Amino acid sequence: MTENRSLPRIGVLAIQGDYAAHAAALADAGADPLEVRQPDQLKGLAGLILPGGESTTILKFLDKLNFFEILQEFCSVNPVFGTCAGAILLAREVRNPAQRSLGVLDAVVERNAYGRQVDSSILTAETALPGGPLEMVFIRAPRIVNTGSTVKVLAVRDGSPVLVRQGSVLAATFHPELSPDRRVHQLFVQIVNAAHSQKAHELEVRF
Ligand code: GLN
Repeated sequence: MTENRSLPRIGVLAIQGDYAAHAAALADAGADPLEVRQPDQLKGLAGLILPGGESTTILKFLDKLNFFEILQEFCSVNPVFGTCAGAILLAREVRNPAQRSLGVLDAVVERNAYGRQVDSSILTAETALPGGPLEMVFIRAPRIVNTGSTVKVLAVRDGSPVLVRQGSVLAATFHPELSPDRRVHQLFVQIVNAAHSQKAHELEVRF
């Protein structure tokens, strides 16, 4: 991957799952992606994507690499975007079964919650994003069963949120990186750019 300093540098946790598709989507959406495999690679990143995959497997590797706490610290002060397993990792509480999570998104998530026949499916529906209906690819998706009052719901399926935002934390229970539409990644790049200007402004005010 070539370095491009004029674009925001956004990491994609590349331990397990479909991180390569996210890196490609980020490049399309106007960011400079970096696949992150070690804790020290978080240094200097403007944001991070936690991809879909298998959250239990990702957790095991995070523990093995002594990465969990460092990742939690990064996610509590920087923009993060979790898709599917990544959304499970971000949640405050995980059910079915209960498992450890980073706790940076005020939401309760139930794993593999959509039943067998709709285990994996593609839905096209209106969302809060401008530009018309959005294709949403669900693969053994979790269900967001509860959200805190500061969580904005940007899309729903069967009455449950599937795309949510809480400040600079974005989460989708589907896989926007697997559709050609780049609006969700563009939204995340906007969140990252806004957080970056905000930080620069705070520094200006302080000094
Ligand atoms: N079922 C997976 C989990 O519980 C998530 C599936 C996905 O990321 N596509 O971690």
